[in-house]
Amino acid sequence: MNNTYPFLDLKAVNARYEEELIAAATRVIKSGRYIGGEEVDKFEQELCDMTGAAYAVGVSNGLDALRLILRAYKELGIMTDGDEVIVPGNTYIASVLAITDAGLTPVLVDPSLTTFNIDTAKIEKAVTPRTRAIMTVHLYGRTAWDETMAEIARKYGLKIIEDSAQAIGACSVALGMDGKGRRAGALGHASAFSFYPTKNVGALGDAGAVTTSDNELAKAVRALANYGSDRRYHNIYVGANCRLDPMQAAMLRIKLGHTAEENADRFARALAYHRTINHEAIICPMMSESVTDNVWHQYVIRVTGGKRDEFRDKLLKHGVATDVHYAVPPHRQPCYQNLKHGPLPVTELLANEVVSLPIGTGTSVKDAATIAEIINSIEF
Ligand SMILES: *Cc1c(COP(=O)(O)O)cnc(C)c1O
Repeated sequence: MNNTYPFLDLKAVNARYEEELIAAATRVIKSGRYIGGEEVDKFEQELCDMTGAAYAVGVSNGLDALRLILRAYKELGIMTDGDEVIVPGNTYIASVLAITDAGLTPVLVDPSLTTFNIDTAKIEKAVTPRTRAIMTVHLYGRTAWDETMAEIARKYGLKIIEDSAQAIGACSVALGMDGKGRRAGALGHASAFSFYPTKNVGALGDAGAVTTSDNELAKAVRALANYGSDRRYHNIYVGANCRLDPMQAAMLRIKLGHTAEENADRFARALAYHRTINHEAIICPMMSESVTDNVWHQYVIRVTGGKRDEFRDKLLKHGVATDVHYAVPPHRQPCYQNLKHGPLPVTELLANEVVSLPIGTGTSVKDAATIAEIINSIEF
């Protein structure tokens, strides 16, 4: 099997910054500080600067970031067991896991076929007296945010929690809830980031963060992530250990500094696909050449006519590896067979049609154009 075009080469992702990463790792080794401390504080400040949020709390991973936000809202008396959280049906399962883990009820809403993000026109119908929040997921890097969502949140007093795991650096067209912020992480009331190694900004291990401009929420999240203690040996919550460690914070400070160029590179590859792919069975994702509301975590096409597997096999024979995000939506997973939900036709359709093309470091713009030509040549 020739693998000329791997889906993602993680070694190449970090090779680009090898010297800086080694210097930062050495600094941590020599510091004698292996939990908390200056590296974590500085990382949090840099994440605030980048997103425009007032507070950032480094945590263990993206799922924990989401879990901590929901747990914190419960501790603050804003949510209680069985309350409902609206979430898109086609998200990565972690969004839904966080909701059920907190004893809350996910209410799945279909996405839009144009954006792949939650269809904001369908949100209001899903609101009930038990709805407390909308978890908006900036899927594949595109901000899932508009005035309709903000208006519904105001009307029904809902919290908006952003799942920004795939969208670091993304900038929305509409203003956030506070009427100021535009960036993922500062659009809703709270946001979760993941720095899983394959994300646009990846740690060298697990890492995540919560951002918010709500001081009470930030304090609760920070305490919950540190055994529930607000100060040493004083526990106000039944907490957990979900801290970000300084080694990962040091790695992330390097990577965070390169977010804009990494995202610009992804945009250039996406544009090459967009301009070159021309196949009657393929639908490309929506693309605007001027808007920065998508940081292209994934470049996801739809292969129509039930030919996805055949298409992927043929591409692989040409040396092009692809992936599928996601073939089995959360409500179809064995663990959620008892989850109640209405019909989700768009979620189901996308699960059968989506294919992610290589877009990370290691795929050049020229590679993307070549892959696009290969796609155009495929007959089925
Ligand atoms: C990666 C991801 C998560 C989970 O982040 P981890 O750091 O892997 O726990 C949550 N939501 C979405 C949309 C993701 O892509």
